[in-house]
Amino acid sequence: MTCLVCEYTTVEGLCLCNHCDTRLRAVLDRVPATLRTAAATLANQGVQPRVGSAGTSAPGAPLNLDMAERLGEYERRLTELAHWVNGREEPKHLRIFTTTFHAAEYLRAMAHHLRKREFVADIYLELRDLERRVISAADRPIQKRPLGECGALLMDDATNVITRCAGVVEGHETATTGRCRECHREHDLTQRITDRFAQAWHHIAPLSVVVRALNDAGYPIKYERAKKWAQRGKLHPRCDLKSRQEGHSPADVLIVFQSIPLSKR
Ligand SMILES: [Zn+2]
Ligand SMILES: [Zn+2]
Repeated sequence: MTCLVCEYTTVEGLCLCNHCDTRLRAVLDRVPATLRTAAATLANQGVQPRVGSAGTSAPGAPLNLDMAERLGEYERRLTELAHWVNGREEPKHLRIFTTTFHAAEYLRAMAHHLRKREFVADIYLELRDLERRVISAADRPIQKRPLGECGALLMDDATNVITRCAGVVEGHETATTGRCRECHREHDLTQRITDRFAQAWHHIAPLSVVVRALNDAGYPIKYERAKKWAQRGKLHPRCDLKSRQEGHSPADVLIVFQSIPLSKR
């Protein structure tokens, strides 16, 4: 069988290859971050007054209508798709999603089912395009983060010497792909992002701060759940050697999160 999105070979019965399946889940995991980006743009443009050259306040910039419209479409379709999938997959267990966040959470939880349905390709492509439209209406470039060395093999045409690119790969806050600043090659960053958190033993912070950082990176961890992990001893506090404060490391939280089966998260 071939993937209905990229035509790569997949296991019999699965309509998405591993790669496209990961991307579908990532688009859904990024919904909170995408909503935040949109909200920040709307807040900036709706409220912030422009200061004139003489120091007087000029009328505020008009609301970003592009963003308002695209965000509306994004939220409406996410909710519609969640209701549609719910009606098809669980006709005896109909739900009502009152927020985009819950709609996305439901679709995310159903991802393993969706993968077996032919309509999954349309859902993925539509969600991807809706997200792109929202992000491209954002008024300021979303923050980029450096995610390690490029390492691509480069061949010098004159000398035929092969070297490794030492450029830094950067990705936008909500993206799972990034580009090398030097050779402009595109990299899939999912693994690098996960690795960075998995190696972050040395950053100790209050649990709420760690959970928020992981949420921003696309991990749908609920603070209340994380608190329970700590209370039940699944998650052990660490002591920051400098500040002598107790806290948690992103790596610890991520390990517990990833040890929990998807259906129970
Ligand atoms: Zn594919
Ligand atoms: Zn490079």
